[in-house]
Parts: sequence; C-alpha cells; structure tokens
Amino acid sequence: MQRVWLAAALALCSPSAALAAPDGYFDGRSAAEVELPRPPATAPAAAGLDSRLWIVVRAPTKQARTAVADTGISIEQVYGDRVGGIGTRAMIDRLKEQGLAPIHVSELDRLLPADFPPEDQAYHNYQELRKELEAIAARAPGLASIFVIGHSHQNREILALRLNTDAAGRQKSGKPAIAFMGTHHAREHLSTEVPLMLAAYLVDKRNEPEISALLSRRDIFILPMINPDGVEHDISGGFYRMHRKNMRENGRGSIGVDLNRNYGFHWGEGGASDRPDSDIYRGPAPFSEPETQAVKSFVEERKDTIKILLSYHTFSELILYPWGHSYDPIPDAEALAAYRAMAGTMGRMTGYTPQQSSELYIASGDTTDWAWGAHRIFSFTFELTPKTMWDGGFYPGADAINTTFNNNIRPALYLIELADDPYRAARTLSQTQLKPTPVSGGR
Ligand SMILES: [Zn+2]
Repeated sequence: MQRVWLAAALALCSPSAALAAPDGYFDGRSAAEVELPRPPATAPAAAGLDSRLWIVVRAPTKQARTAVADTGISIEQVYGDRVGGIGTRAMIDRLKEQGLAPIHVSELDRLLPADFPPEDQAYHNYQELRKELEAIAARAPGLASIFVIGHSHQNREILALRLNTDAAGRQKSGKPAIAFMGTHHAREHLSTEVPLMLAAYLVDKRNEPEISALLSRRDIFILPMINPDGVEHDISGGFYRMHRKNMRENGRGSIGVDLNRNYGFHWGEGGASDRPDSDIYRGPAPFSEPETQAVKSFVEERKDTIKILLSYHTFSELILYPWGHSYDPIPDAEALAAYRAMAGTMGRMTGYTPQQSSELYIASGDTTDWAWGAHRIFSFTFELTPKTMWDGGFYPGADAINTTFNNNIRPALYLIELADDPYRAARTLSQTQLKPTPVSGGR
C-alpha cells in the first residue's frame, strides 16, 4: 500500500506538470509562481473528488491556522509554518481575500492509489468489523458483550463492545467506565483498527494477572466505527474516495456532515463551516446527525460512570485535549493539571506530541470539547500514525496496523487504570506499572 501510494505521489514528478514532487512542494516558490492545475478530464466524478484539492498554505500562528479553517478547508497536517488541508477552489478564493495565498495546490485524486490494493485487506469494512466484534465477544462470555448505540443515516447499526465482568449489554454497572471510539471520519481507517485490536487484546489476555485485575475493576466500552456509512462509501468502487464526513444528503450534490464538528457544545463557532460542500461542514444544527445523537445518548446514559473518553483519529501523531473551540485553557486548574499530566505521560509512551487542541487551530463542535464541557469526562483525541501525508496520510497501508496498535497499548491501559480517578494523574506522575506485550503477526 505504501509502495502504491508513493508511486502515485511520484507520478506527480513530471517536469511538464505544475505539480511538484512531495518534497518539492515546499520549495519557497511564491503563490504567484504556482499554477493551479485544472481538473483532469478523466477525473472520476463518481468518486466525489472532482472539486476537492490538497492545499498547502503558510500559516505560522494558531490564529492564521484558524483563519484557514474558517474558509472551510479541513486542515489535516500542521508542520513548521505551514498547513496542508483539503478544500475547494472557492475556499482558495476566500483564503486569498484574507491574504493567505496557497503555496501549493494539487488535485486530490492524483494523491490517491489507483485501486484498492490487496495488501490492505487487513483493514475491516463494516461487515468484517461486525463479524470480528462477534468473534471477540464469543471468546469471552461473561466478560464481553455487544450492543447497538444507534443507527447511521443509511440505517447501519453503530456497535459497542463492552467488557465488564458483572454486567452485559445495557445493564447498569457502578464500576468506573471508559470509552474508546474510532472512525468518526470515514477515511481514517486505522482509527477503527486500533480500538478493535484493543478489544481483542484485552479479551485474549484476560487471564494474565495485570489485565485480569484491570478488567475486574472497570467497565470498558469500545466503539470502533462511529461512521459506518462513510467508511463503506470511502472504500466502495475499488479505490479510496478520500471521504471524511457521514452520508447525509445535503442537496445540490453535496454529501455529508463532519461528525467531529456536529457536537453540541459551542457548536457553530470557529473552525467549522456552515457550507455543505466543506469537509468541515458542521451540519444544520447541533447533534443533527444520527451518529452524533447515538454517541450523545450512549454517553448521557452512562455519564455518572464514564470518567475518560478517547476518540481515535488519524493522522499527525498528536495527543489533543480540550479546548478546541477556544484558545483559553479549561478554567479548572486541577483538571488542567491532570490533563497535562496524562497527555504528557502518553506522549512519552508513544512519541506523539501532547497539546491543547486549539494550539493547532480553532475547531468547534468536536467530541472531546462536548464530553468535557457538558459532562466533565476527561477526553482526548489521538491523531494516530503517520506523521505526514507523505508517509501515507490516511492510507498508510496494512503494515501500519500492528505497529500503531503496539505503540498505543500503553496509553490505553494507562487510561483504563486511571478511570476511577483521573485527577490522580497529576498527583502521581509516575508511569503505569503495566507492561503490555506487543502483538505481532497480521490478522
Ligand atoms: Zn479525524
């Protein structure tokens, strides 16, 4: 997969094209020197890529990056004084009105593999995810159960796997709870695989003393695919469609709401677009989408016991905590100290960069701002592997699954351990004593 992707990227090297090779994108040319490519005649209109572009802009401060996001561009990569993101020509025009001309623009489909490579079969589509969750649950009756938290626009069941030695399905439990979520954004397939592997890891090691001790004391919920419609759309047709949003029909040929801009805490503020064609379209109202409604109900039914929530995304290798909608830190000093301690510890475990979400740029309506702002649940967004678009971006290949999971076991176990009292993270900065066993071999 990595090889295929690189081949596609290197195809951009043609000296006659205005498009530059990946490492030539940042060659210091001024915007005026960069000719905007025209959409190719052969652009696969059915892929929904025809009007979207990969856009690189110089934006050295968080305020400048917020101005980029406010045009409707979905920022996917921040590095040095530049950001890379996905948007349309109209958004480039809005950038220019603010004096933020792009350094580089390329057609998105030119950055994609031509078809679904066989080596990516290790990733789970929706039906495969369902089967895998059922198989995991079947291995541990009395510990694992599955239930449905709601339905997507296209009526797919949004599934949760629960690990609790005393309660199954929707039964009440007084144990401290933690929730792991994946794939709010369709094309971020690795963010399904990591929580799915976490479920298998905990079940298969349930008799090892340290894991057994954790499982007996906690109520663990794993929801690997919040946006099943988007996932199925992204992989349908034999090639990736670079789809981010859900599958709401917005009219005028526009599809999808950004589920991670649709949560109802400071909804509709900065870094979320009111334009349906934007990849960061916030939707017509807070919690307008069945997928975010499902998460809302799931959390609110358990708000007395869920202490920690982790939402996996890709990519950039970051550990983010609230606020995202404001540059201000959260006002509760004790909680902020706990957030910083947890994020710092997990940063050392993974090599990922811990920071307040808005240090990147303002984004409103995300899962973590809502979970913290509305319910005081300690909430993190992990932007998983890889670090950049040029390392594979959203499609890093099957090899990334095990390595990324192995790099993320320790923070997962650490958060499970802390879920009775996250505030103690700031009191005892020492890292968890748990020594996870790396997983090897593909599935
Ligand atoms: Zn995402």
